[in-house]
Amino acid sequence: MLTGRSPSPRSSDRVRPDVAVVGAGPIGLAIGWRCAARGLRVEVHDPASGSGASAVAAGMLSPVAEAYFGERQLTDLLLASAARWPAFAAELTATTGVEIGYRTEGTLMVGLTGDDLAEARRLWAYQRGLGLPVTPLRPSELRDREPALAPRVRGGALAPTDHQVDPRLLVPALRTAAQRAGAVLVPRTVRRLSDVDARLTVVAAGCGTAALTGLPVRPVKGQILRLRAPDGAAPGFRHVIRGYADGEPVYLVPRPDGEVVLGATVEERSDTTVTAGAVQRLLRAGVDLLPELAEYDLVEAVAGLRPGTPDNAPILGPLPGRPDVLAATGHHRHGIVLTPITADLIADLVLGGVPDPLLAPLRADRFDGAALGGPEPTMEGDRWS
Ligand SMILES: Cc1cc2nc3c(=O)[nH]c(=O)nc-3n(C[C@H](O)[C@H](O)[C@H](O)COP(=O)(O)OP(=O)(O)OC[C@H]3O[C@@H](n4cnc5c(N)ncnc54)[C@H](O)[C@@H]3O)c2cc1C
Repeated sequence: MLTGRSPSPRSSDRVRPDVAVVGAGPIGLAIGWRCAARGLRVEVHDPASGSGASAVAAGMLSPVAEAYFGERQLTDLLLASAARWPAFAAELTATTGVEIGYRTEGTLMVGLTGDDLAEARRLWAYQRGLGLPVTPLRPSELRDREPALAPRVRGGALAPTDHQVDPRLLVPALRTAAQRAGAVLVPRTVRRLSDVDARLTVVAAGCGTAALTGLPVRPVKGQILRLRAPDGAAPGFRHVIRGYADGEPVYLVPRPDGEVVLGATVEERSDTTVTAGAVQRLLRAGVDLLPELAEYDLVEAVAGLRPGTPDNAPILGPLPGRPDVLAATGHHRHGIVLTPITADLIADLVLGGVPDPLLAPLRADRFDGAALGGPEPTMEGDRWS
């Protein structure tokens, strides 16, 4: 798309950037970092970097536990991005000196009741059928790994390669990395694409994308809680725990500083109010799986908006009829895990490389006629994040 860097300016002239990124969430910042590191002049526009979905996200990197029926291509993309995470995290920390909470203890998937376990086992069988590392565990093995689990928990499985990162550490680190590579952060809202003056524009505005591009990106509300272990202690469990508790899907993400993230609802709504009913359901499910949570402080209850698409997969590529505008959006439940691969694929595209075959099913024109329509029906009821 771009060949070479724009010429150097005379001393006081504003330089027309090679690339303007709209949106400084994890996706826009990582793209800005990668493009600037490859020698391009980059601006990233956002009035409130990190205030989108990433501000509330749990940070699970779970391509295995989130390999759902009917989403094979998306699963392949998630796996490919998760495989890049160890090197991405190491490079980001080496570049910035910031620890981003990347942890590799793995994920335990559990079922509280017999019905919960039956439902979970169907999914694990599907995941194992794809060749994914899912190891069923007997209740005693489960409790050897996590003694804090409720005695009622009927069974579980381990996904050792599903990891986690802390998005509230990740985004500032990405901001630092992008700036150190030479990207300029511009604190403003982009109202129209024509307001951006650059050789190429990348729209990575999360739920702000539809208004700018007409692409069918819709908000999908998620309510989520943060608890804290008493007396400054670390949580009494090490793995990410995902499970069904009396039919309620729930996940628990422990952080070393004592925080536990407990989430999340999936609602076809665009408000960010927190409801008593959602808080009650999340707490009940969480405490049913890990009774010690009842003693934790409840420190935060928030809602965020995931940028969803009609097929739950991101949109990566030029807008129809606009080779000068790339979309990098619609990451829905997976924007954190998909950050490394999105940044690499888009930077390659910006620099005019041969499009990676992974991009073919993610083209912006695959929703012909769906732009700005109402949300398509999705099977969200049994999803976790
Ligand atoms: C409850 C919840 C839990 C989640 N858990 C996980 C998880 O465990 N793992 C995972 O991988 N993902 C998770 N996600 C999803 C993840 O947070 C998103 O997919 C990800 O944040 C998308 O990144 P983004 O940069 O595209 O958008 P966002 O993080 O939403 O950032 C968009 C940015 O664009 C800016 N912007 C918008 N419009 C404009 C405009 N017109 N001009 C300038 N700037 C603009 C905003 O200010 C914002 O800073 C979760 C989301 C929610 C809500």
